[in-house]
Amino acid sequence: MDAAAAAPLPEAPQRKHQAEAVDPLFAAAFQQAVAGNIAAGRAGHLRLHPEIFWLPVSENCNLRCIGCDDVITGFRKEYLAPADVRRLLSASAGQASFSEIDLTSGEPLLHPQLSEVIDICHELHPKAVVSVVSNGTIPVRGKYRDAYARLDSIGLSIDGATAEVFEAVRVGASFERFVQTVKDVVALRDQTGRPAEIQLCFTACAMNLHQLPEVVRLGKSWGVNSVYAQPMEMNIAPIRDAIGHLHLDHMDPAERTRWVDEAVALGRELGLEVAASDGLYPRPKEEEKSTEPQAGPSLAFEEKVAKLGVGVRRRSPDGELTLPHVRQCQYPWTQAPGIRKMGAAWHTTLCCYMSEAANTELAARYDLHDMDKQSMLDLYNGAGYWQFREDLAAGLTHEACGDCAAALTHGPSLLQHLAWRIDALCVEHGLSFPGGDALREQLMQPQATVHQARKLVNHLHQAWWQPHPQPRPVWLQELMAAARELGPPKETAPAASGSPSA
Ligand code: SF4
Repeated sequence: MDAAAAAPLPEAPQRKHQAEAVDPLFAAAFQQAVAGNIAAGRAGHLRLHPEIFWLPVSENCNLRCIGCDDVITGFRKEYLAPADVRRLLSASAGQASFSEIDLTSGEPLLHPQLSEVIDICHELHPKAVVSVVSNGTIPVRGKYRDAYARLDSIGLSIDGATAEVFEAVRVGASFERFVQTVKDVVALRDQTGRPAEIQLCFTACAMNLHQLPEVVRLGKSWGVNSVYAQPMEMNIAPIRDAIGHLHLDHMDPAERTRWVDEAVALGRELGLEVAASDGLYPRPKEEEKSTEPQAGPSLAFEEKVAKLGVGVRRRSPDGELTLPHVRQCQYPWTQAPGIRKMGAAWHTTLCCYMSEAANTELAARYDLHDMDKQSMLDLYNGAGYWQFREDLAAGLTHEACGDCAAALTHGPSLLQHLAWRIDALCVEHGLSFPGGDALREQLMQPQATVHQARKLVNHLHQAWWQPHPQPRPVWLQELMAAARELGPPKETAPAASGSPSA
């Protein structure tokens, strides 16, 4: 580690999202919307549709990176057969379209028929971007070059800016080899147009965070499109025992913040997109958190929503202290499960941030393994998945989620839940929501803003406030009251988004 030798960074301002106050009105509105949507899902009035179809194609990898729990469970030379890819994608093809099909798992380039798999994806979902995250060790040659050249998007995992750090994290890899792969993929893109999107993916721990700014510099010099950084999760005991001392929480909070801010600022200066997940930043220390939600009637609406659920502790019914950012995680609301096949058996991965053992346990608990009789979307909207969402919100998956930092990235979105409430209520009451389609689409985007929430409230006002033969649901009456309190919409510029793509 050469952090000590690096030049000191200028002071960076404290992040706003470290604030702890939560307005109980908005926390209640969020919980009410979640509960309403779970009930609507169970009743068949709400059907969720993730944008990305996650299809893990490889159970095999050639590296043994620190922090990877697959190293503990062991890799298998198993790959999803093209026939299974076709069947899974065909089952959902008539139900919905996807913006992306993500083939990430193990090292996907090791799949011996990856080109054929990608062709099937393009054939059945022609509008979907086909993507992988790769470790960058497979040379851009021969049949591998054919596969690289069929991809629309690739993430290349770089966890250090020097051979010493990179090779200490990505055990078994050569930094020199990795750099050559990046350059070759960039040359391929410039020659053929594919993969159009090349992203460097950085998983941060105390050993490498100080190199994130240099990774941004390297990314710019190599000609990649973007850099994405997230914390290394350490959710299982063998990983914590081995490298727990490298967790970001062991870093000095100010230094940790400065390295991330430096990387983001450098990206802006160089004109390279840098997405830093919220989990990279320090969280408030336990003793500094409030144990009760703090009322904030004088806070601006934007602040109330921005602070929703962050940094406040709650107790579950049995008195166990749980972290609300985990309980309010939106991962299973917006992200698809991974559908894998090992031997003849199907395996459902509910969340890529959980250990494989936790995923296996939860998939069994919620009866989510049988993919012979249902599509991914049917599974996603089935009774088991709604129970998983409810249990997550109730803190009952805490042993699987642990102290998950990724939940901050998949944080609360009152806006999305409002959009889903509209859909569900329209279905339930057999009503249409004129002019609402475009707005709903906007609200489903990660960069949806409070300004759009106000538009939603206005739309609702126009669409529902008029006399109507059917009684208006209580929830809508409450929303209308909230709308009146908010006053007329204020047009403000949408906030910038740092949404990750890998
Ligand atoms: S809290 Fe973390 S591990 Fe749990 S579902 Fe959300 S992202 Fe996954």
